Amino acid sequence: MINKQSQNMQNSDPLPQKNQGEWHPNLWPPFTQVAIANPPNRVISGKGALLYTDSGSTLVDAISSWWVTLHGHSHPYISSAIAKQACELEQVIFADFIHPQAEKIAARLSKLTNLDRLFFSDNGSTAVEVALKIACQFWQNNCERRNQIIAFEGAYHGDTFGAMAVGERNLFNAPFEEMLFPVTRVPWPAYWWDKDNIDSTENQALEKLKSSLKQPTAAVILEPLIQGAGGMRMVRRDFIKEVASIVKESGALLIADEVLTGFGRCGKLFAFQRAGIKPDLVALSKGLTGGFLPMGVTLASEEIFQSFTGPDPQRTLWHGHSFTANPLGCAAANASLDLLEASPEIYENFESRHAVHLQALSKNPKIIKPRLIGTISAFELKVEGKSGYWNQAGSVIKQLAKKSGVFLRPLGNVVYLLPPLCITDEQLEQCYQAINRSLESL
Ligand SMILES: *Cc1c(COP(=O)(O)O)cnc(C)c1O
Repeated sequence: MINKQSQNMQNSDPLPQKNQGEWHPNLWPPFTQVAIANPPNRVISGKGALLYTDSGSTLVDAISSWWVTLHGHSHPYISSAIAKQACELEQVIFADFIHPQAEKIAARLSKLTNLDRLFFSDNGSTAVEVALKIACQFWQNNCERRNQIIAFEGAYHGDTFGAMAVGERNLFNAPFEEMLFPVTRVPWPAYWWDKDNIDSTENQALEKLKSSLKQPTAAVILEPLIQGAGGMRMVRRDFIKEVASIVKESGALLIADEVLTGFGRCGKLFAFQRAGIKPDLVALSKGLTGGFLPMGVTLASEEIFQSFTGPDPQRTLWHGHSFTANPLGCAAANASLDLLEASPEIYENFESRHAVHLQALSKNPKIIKPRLIGTISAFELKVEGKSGYWNQAGSVIKQLAKKSGVFLRPLGNVVYLLPPLCITDEQLEQCYQAINRSLESL
C-alpha cells in the first residue's frame, strides 16, 4: 500500500509517458546504439527475481540486472539496512574520518580474503584501476623497474582508461586504441563440456605466459575461472592454479578481478578460493552491496600496503573518490554479507540446480559448448557465419524469451543464465523453458 503522502507526491510530478517503444529525449543509454536497438521497457518495481513493467508484464531477471542483483530485487533486509543508515549518517569525507560501517566491512572482507588492506572506490572499473595503480606503484616504491602488465585475451575489466587498456581490444574501445597503454596478452584456454584438446590449449597458454614473464612484469590480471563480458568463457580450475604458481615464481603481482565472480557467483564466496589460489590484489564490486548501490573495493596484502608507508610523500597512494566508503554502500555491503553468511548453501548448491536443466538442453542440436560454474550457466547458439558479439541470433532469442516472461541479454551468440540467488526452482525452470521454446522458433 502506498500511503497518501507519497501518492500525492507522485501525482504532483509530471507523469512519465506510458508509450512503450520510444526513446526518452534526455537519456543517453549505456552500451546501446539507439539507431538499431529496441527502446527499453519502463520498470516500476522489482521483487525477488522478478521485474514489473508499467505495461503490466512480469519478467524473470535471469541475468541479475547486469550481474549485480545478488539476493533479489528490493530485498527487505538490505533495504532497511540502507534506510536505517540513511537516517544516521548518509555520507562523510573518508579522509580525516572513518565510520563504523566501513570499519566493519573492511574487517570482514579482509578476514574472508586473507588480504589485510581494503581500499574503497565506486564501481568495478575503479576497483580495477586502483589495483593496477597499486601494482605499478608498489614496484616503484620498492625501486624495482617492472613495467610490463600481462592480461588475457578476451578479458573485460571495465570501461575507464586503465581498465580498457587491460581488456581485450575490440570495437568497443577502438576509438581510444592509441591512448591505451601497452599490455602483453596470453591466450585464455576456454573450456566447455565436450571440449577436446584442452590440455594442449592450456599448455600453449602457459608457455606463452612463461615466455612473457621473462620481461620484468609488474602484474598479471585475470578474471578467475570465468571471463564474463568476453563471452562467459570458463577455464579449468587447474589452469588458474598453474597460472598463479607461474606468476608467483616470477615475482609479479597477481590481480584477481572478482568484480563478477565474487560473492558466491562461482559456488564459493570468491572464485579464487574455488580455484585454490592466493592473489596479491582482489577487485570486488557488482554483488558487493547485494546489487543495491554502486561501490567497489580493492583488497591488498599487508606487504603491499607497507611499501606505501614512510615519510617520503611519493610513496603515498594519491588516489581517492568523493564518495569513498559511502556509508549507505557500506551498510548495504554488510547486510548483503550477513545474508551470504547466513545461508552459504544457496550459492554452494546452485550448480546442481543448473546442471539438470543444462544437461537436458545440451542435447538440443541448435546449441553448442555448454558450460557451467556455480550460479552461471552458458552455451552458444550454433550459427552460420560470424559468431561473437555481433551475431544477431542472440538478440532473436532475447526477444522470444521476453515473450515467455524471461529477461535474457545474450552476448552475441552466447546465451547465459546468471540469476539472483533467490530465484525459485519454478522460476529457474521457466528460464530454461523460455530458452527451449525460443530455440524451437529460431
Ligand atoms: C563488470 C565488470 C567490471 C566493471 O565493473 P563496472 O562496475 O561496470 O565498472 C570489471 N571487471 C569485471 C570482471 C566485470 O565483470
